[in-house]
Amino acid sequence: MTRLLLIGPPGAGKGTQAARLAENYSIPAISTGDIFRFNVKNETELGSKAKAYMDAGDNVPDSLTNALIRDRLAESDCDAGFLLDGYPRTTDQVRELDEFLAGHGTALDVVVELVADPDVVVERLRKRASEQGRSDDGESVVRHRLEVYRDQTEPLIDVYDGRGVLVKVDAIGEIDVVTERITAALAVRGIELAGHASH
Ligand code: ADP
Repeated sequence: MTRLLLIGPPGAGKGTQAARLAENYSIPAISTGDIFRFNVKNETELGSKAKAYMDAGDNVPDSLTNALIRDRLAESDCDAGFLLDGYPRTTDQVRELDEFLAGHGTALDVVVELVADPDVVVERLRKRASEQGRSDDGESVVRHRLEVYRDQTEPLIDVYDGRGVLVKVDAIGEIDVVTERITAALAVRGIELAGHASH
């Protein structure tokens, strides 16, 4: 049973690492950003409510996000654990998640902070904008997303550090190298790769 959270600024590589970790640890990766983008693309009611916030680089209101994640975590594939990417990103969302997990007698095992210099993440996002055309990767929106991260999400790092569940991992380097750093940091915390459980 492994409950993980990946936290870090936009462009730190959370989505990329989340997909690899999910596979390696046999747990679902849950990205609120991906769920919102899916809903926008499919023009659902949730998507129509979230779109303007996303395009502006603002957080979608907590009420929408909390409801969405509560439903997702209640699905049976999360029974074996999960990896959260992009949630929680406000103190209100931390409170919600704490309550939800406590209601199930659990808590997050490890919070991995992907540490990346702002200049590097801006450059990565610029590259992604030209390759993928994500609607929130324009230069001024990127700058705003970084501000929103600094104001609303970065404070959560101290909260999790205070609980003794935080590990910091350098997110600058080859994708494989970063995955190895995370894997090593998790092993120190007693979280082993699927199929490599210690005896
Ligand atoms: P990034 O980490 O690169 O900023 P995400 O895919 O995590 O990208 O998020 C994209 C957008 O989706 C955010 O700017 C925000 O509008 C919305 N979003 C994602 N997760 C949340 C969340 N937990 N709370 C509020 N809004 C969210």
